[in-house]
Amino acid sequence: MKMIASYDPTKIQDYIAAFDPEALIRQSLRRLSYSKITSYTKRCRRRYFFQRVLRIKIPDESYFYLGERVHAHCQRFWEVDYQDAESFANQFVIHFLQRQKDPLKSGRNPGFFRSKQEFWASLNRGKSHVRNFYDMRIQEKREHNPRLIEMPIKGEYKGHKFEARLDEISLKDGKRRIIDIKTIRHPPKDREAANFSGSEQYPLYVILTKQWLLTSDPERTLEERRRKVAEEYKTPKVRDKHLEEVARMMDSLKVIRQHTGPSTFELIFPENSLQADIDITAEAEAALSDTLDAFLKGINSRDFPRKPLTGRFNCHNDCLYFDLCRTFDDTQDTRKELSRLVEQGIIIVSSRKRAPKPGEPLTYIQAQHEPLFLGQDSIVAE
Ligand code: SF4
Repeated sequence: MKMIASYDPTKIQDYIAAFDPEALIRQSLRRLSYSKITSYTKRCRRRYFFQRVLRIKIPDESYFYLGERVHAHCQRFWEVDYQDAESFANQFVIHFLQRQKDPLKSGRNPGFFRSKQEFWASLNRGKSHVRNFYDMRIQEKREHNPRLIEMPIKGEYKGHKFEARLDEISLKDGKRRIIDIKTIRHPPKDREAANFSGSEQYPLYVILTKQWLLTSDPERTLEERRRKVAEEYKTPKVRDKHLEEVARMMDSLKVIRQHTGPSTFELIFPENSLQADIDITAEAEAALSDTLDAFLKGINSRDFPRKPLTGRFNCHNDCLYFDLCRTFDDTQDTRKELSRLVEQGIIIVSSRKRAPKPGEPLTYIQAQHEPLFLGQDSIVAE
């Protein structure tokens, strides 16, 4: 991985000396998101510390890479007309491979796959997902329902600032819909019994969406998108298509915003979709409130333990911080510990063009298993 710092290495100690973990903890609470909260409350508190407080970057894990690619491709579905599901799926393959081949061009890390089998299985899974997505949504696309796609939204809950990215907000059959595309899990087996009350994500998204629609942020977001499309797409035909879609979203916004009727939340899984009404019950909001309180309590008391060990230290299959986690000594002062890790080349400061400023992200580069970054040769060789 070409992430070697080109600035004066003697400056690294200055950088580390100015590193302030307490300030970073406060900073991590400045803007919250559902995934930030659950990465602490449901995944691993130590991981939260590495990822969200110290901001030590790792390559995109395979599931994350797949999800990100699928979401980006589903967005294109609304903007560009594809001949059929197959051509839509084939374009997905191209985009999936392109970023992996040329991550620097896209400005993002490549995905991390532990084996070529994992790589090809992810690719095929994504392909089948987008093919199904096409079949499920093509009728709706033809109906031109008011629709906002991939909207970054901001709002407040219990006095804390939140942000989220909504896959879709639309209006269909007289109902406002908030759609979330799931690429990791499968729909519940007992679909009749399934509801959304078990997750705090939905009440949070409903609260934030309602607030957000009433502010002037949506116009600003769409205007920004229009500007980017106009600048970035060089081919006039493609650019016009995208601009048309943004204009359609601007019109949709007015209609969706005026609508005050009932809402539904829909989850779109690879296989099919699952939807439910999302009037927020007192019970659902209480669960959301409790989760937020637990999160804040944990962070404010600096509670960042490792996942409990069950016989052996067994998180390495799904966490790329595994090696760092084993070597990180939490009895030490965090700044000293970071200094040691940087000196040993286990992590580096990730700015490549200039001397880093204090508090900039670090990158973890030393993995126990050499990361498999499929480069041009290996892709072509397949
Ligand atoms: S290796 Fe395990 S304990 Fe360490 S950060 Fe990752 S999930 Fe948490």
